[in-house]
Amino acid sequence: MVYHSTRGTEHRVDSAQAVLEGLAPDGGLFVPEVLPYINVEACLQENTMDMACRIISAMLPEIRNMPDLVEKAYRGKFQAAELTPTVKAGDMTVLELFRGPTSAFKDVALCMLPQLLTQARGQKGMTDEILILTATSGDTGKAALAGFADVPGVGICVFYPEGGVSAVQRAQMVTQEGNNVAVCAVRGNFDDAQTGVKNLFAAAENGKLPGDSRSLSTANSINIGRLAPQITYYFKAYSDLLRRGEIQVGDQVNFSVPTGNFGDILAGFLAKRLGLPVGTLICASNANNVLTDFIRTGVYDRRRPLHKTISPSMDILVSSNLERLLYFLSDGDTGLVSGLMQRLNTEGFYEVPESLLKKIQTEFWAGYCDDEKASATIKAAWEKTGYLCDPHTAAGWAVAEEYRASTGDNRPMVVLSTASPYKFPGAVLSALTKPESDDEFAQMEQLSSLTGVPVPANLSGLREKPEKHTDVINKEEMLSYVKEIK
Ligand SMILES: *Cc1c(COP(=O)(O)O)cnc(C)c1O
Repeated sequence: MVYHSTRGTEHRVDSAQAVLEGLAPDGGLFVPEVLPYINVEACLQENTMDMACRIISAMLPEIRNMPDLVEKAYRGKFQAAELTPTVKAGDMTVLELFRGPTSAFKDVALCMLPQLLTQARGQKGMTDEILILTATSGDTGKAALAGFADVPGVGICVFYPEGGVSAVQRAQMVTQEGNNVAVCAVRGNFDDAQTGVKNLFAAAENGKLPGDSRSLSTANSINIGRLAPQITYYFKAYSDLLRRGEIQVGDQVNFSVPTGNFGDILAGFLAKRLGLPVGTLICASNANNVLTDFIRTGVYDRRRPLHKTISPSMDILVSSNLERLLYFLSDGDTGLVSGLMQRLNTEGFYEVPESLLKKIQTEFWAGYCDDEKASATIKAAWEKTGYLCDPHTAAGWAVAEEYRASTGDNRPMVVLSTASPYKFPGAVLSALTKPESDDEFAQMEQLSSLTGVPVPANLSGLREKPEKHTDVINKEEMLSYVKEIK
């Protein structure tokens, strides 16, 4: 299957190569020239693992051995064999994406990506080691470390902002085991770490740092190998509703998605394009509401301060995967997309043509939820339905309610739950009661005894684990740091 960039069609590669390269040479994202066919009815009758296999193979047909790869990626790593269970909570259905090894939804993709990458590497006869460089504001780092730990032929280095991640998130990363992992704090904020990583890529020639034999790659959600596995859980949620008799085949279902980089919700859009009866996709943001403004007005404007919120994984001003949506909804107008992206780069904003805005508004609805509203939602959801949500999920929940109230659309609603409440124990506990301690591990215990919801084993065991990665560097030192790690 041919993949090319969202910004031009000259560089054409197959799906295995697209996964290896991650980002197209012109800075655009890889998209398939034509979306594949999927037998939706057959797919909906399968278990999650077979569904994953069918969907990922359809999206990445040149990557062989898919049943084996899916098996290795997921078997035994999630709390439930079905990977991503759905649960009823009042009149919402919650799709729990956080039952994986690091308790964040990124596990669904980052368990699979290493398998896809190493298979593609083997098929293409690549012998050089791959070095994954990732800057993280918290969740991606740990999920990527867990996914890539001890994977042969691959090394990984994660940079996080010193003091910029929660205590739980830091503990998750600095205790990571594995012979091919490095974790390092950078003095500065997330943007400094992210810019540092981008500079490393810019310093590379033919994908390698000067004098270094390793091929650089990234685990961020711009990689199509990260996006494809996320399509599966939309099908899974739909099949759960079918099986419970809540819908009939063909009925449309709405999905509300806590959104940052626009990867998760784009997977929902692709599920719809592959034939799943998806109704409206609801894009939920926090106080960083660039996407809300964009979907309502057609103007994307990043010229605003970045707010630090209780849902840090959505604290983002430039949502990379939106570029893919612009490509698909403009019927593949690479000239338009590349012009818009250039404008964003040089002027900090762009406006899409009226016809494109209309199409976006047919598929999407958007809203945002500030910290105060998120706390109130956590409390109300707990008291009314007995469901304990994390601050990201609370944003999805609140915006779903707002959507229903303002449109009267009563089609079944699935809220995507993207993290365990125990990854953000301070914020969740404070929403319910007064914390007895400032220590996040004590807060976990207090939250668990208050609600009776068990702490996931991967988080409760963290406190006792030895810290292995305590390096802190200045952003100017990132290049020499990367060159030294083995
Ligand atoms: C990454 C993340 C999101 C945002 O997902 P995108 O694909 O970047 O839109 C939402 N919630 C949590 C907990 C996350 O880790």
